[in-house]
Amino acid sequence: MKKELIEKLIGADVKDISYWADKFSPRPEGQVVSRVGPSPTGFMHLGNIYAALIPYTFTHQNKGVFFLRIEDTDTKRKVEGAVDLVISSLKAFGINADEGPINEGEEKGAYGPYHQSQRADIYKSGIKMLLEKDLAYPCFATEEDIEALRKEQTALKLRPGYYGKWAKCRNLTEEQIEENLSKGMPFVFRFRASGNHETKKYFTDLVKGKIQMPENDMDIVIMKSDGLPTYHFAHVMDDHFMGTTHVIRADEWLASMPLHVQMFESIGWKVPNYAHIAPIQKLDEGNRRKLSKRKDPEANISYYFEQGYPVEAVKEYLINLANSSFEDYKKAHPENALETFEFKLENLNVSGALLDFKKLENISKEFIATLSSADLYNRILTWAESYDKSFADKLRANADYIKSILGIERDGAEKVRKDYYIFSKISDEISYFFDDDFKLTKEDLLSQSPLSENLTKDIVKQYLASFDFNHNKEEWFNNIKDLAAKNGFAKNPKERDKNPELYAGKGTVSDIATIVRLLITGRTQSPDLHAIIQILGKDRTLKRLSLLD
Ligand code: GLU
Repeated sequence: MKKELIEKLIGADVKDISYWADKFSPRPEGQVVSRVGPSPTGFMHLGNIYAALIPYTFTHQNKGVFFLRIEDTDTKRKVEGAVDLVISSLKAFGINADEGPINEGEEKGAYGPYHQSQRADIYKSGIKMLLEKDLAYPCFATEEDIEALRKEQTALKLRPGYYGKWAKCRNLTEEQIEENLSKGMPFVFRFRASGNHETKKYFTDLVKGKIQMPENDMDIVIMKSDGLPTYHFAHVMDDHFMGTTHVIRADEWLASMPLHVQMFESIGWKVPNYAHIAPIQKLDEGNRRKLSKRKDPEANISYYFEQGYPVEAVKEYLINLANSSFEDYKKAHPENALETFEFKLENLNVSGALLDFKKLENISKEFIATLSSADLYNRILTWAESYDKSFADKLRANADYIKSILGIERDGAEKVRKDYYIFSKISDEISYFFDDDFKLTKEDLLSQSPLSENLTKDIVKQYLASFDFNHNKEEWFNNIKDLAAKNGFAKNPKERDKNPELYAGKGTVSDIATIVRLLITGRTQSPDLHAIIQILGKDRTLKRLSLLD
């Protein structure tokens, strides 16, 4: 195409591609470079974090560079505050990019700008280069033309799209282009595809393996009439100039891989490695489906923050989803940091990993069990300040008291309790430590007691008489055992079941403990009851034990 016509199409002041090639020096030979390219939509999907965590982990294990690129060329979808949400969400998950936007208006790295919307000059140079190489052409087809084309192809049972003989603008002469321009007709740029759809080619994907796909013959739009690139073109331009060696992205792009490879190859640029990640799935009435932004509250990462899952647990869970061998590794090396696990792209689930809340719950329990009571207190407070203001007030007003509650079976304990998994449940779990929230009626006690009404009343009386606040844990428990023996109770249900006649109408040691637990906590399950009593203090304990008086 004539130089003058190229200038008319893309602008006379557009720089040659060599300018950018000089500006962005190649990365050191052998360095692994990957990235995440979220579109700022104002919504952070769990899949966005997953799609960032995988290249982040992979790159860091390979001592490479991981950067963040904001893919904001879709001006229709621009949302206020969306870029901040991307940056803060990644930060919250400890996914710290080596290069990219840090804050609104601030970037680090030598390959920027890292917002696609600020790279228009680079894309224009790319179009100029493609026009010069006859790898692109202007297309004046209107939306109606494209719709008519699609209808005709559908009626003929043909593949829809702008390709081959259907790609009318592909063969416009320079005179015809000049004429259209002089009429002021709007146009887009299309890539001149070189492939044959009948020819199958092998592509290597680091997750999916070797895949056979037809060559690309679609003349896809690479620059829209607003001068902004489509994803396909921006991907090739950016990942080339930013030196990406590994394009790790969602597998919705897998079908575009032949197109992208063709673009790199026809320009003469090195094709990056590709790794396509299957989406996170969930079971919906027995069927697997993609986690949906529209249908599933748990698709939004704000869900995990609101519920109060520790972010480390969610992160570890996502690593688990990506590489299921992590679970065994963690069992074998519980003390090791996440980063020490050898993460492998080829171990990613090819068809999609299934979201499993039970597993997340367990990981979260294990993680919370590693925290000291002071640490846990601080985390709960931080959570409550955002999501439960009245609990935050309570936490601040009763700091030492609540720390001692959280310390039960924790600080220095031989076997640390593993019941907490989300911060939003803790307010309820510790409510019985507060007299205002503790409500147990005689009826509650009698209806929940494992023993008959008379026997329960009798045991409560005996327990109150024998109770000594100064008992240590062993003495305290021996007292319950003594009471059981005195009343002819069995040591445990097994013993009772062996001698049904002997123990007819009698209880067991644990029945007595349950009654005491009910009186003290209003619940049939609690952590170490002796520790609870010590924290409640003598007076409050005696008052609760005297419910039936
Ligand atoms: N903006 C693209 C997306 O959100 C990025 C895909 C890629 O990583 O290349 O799907």
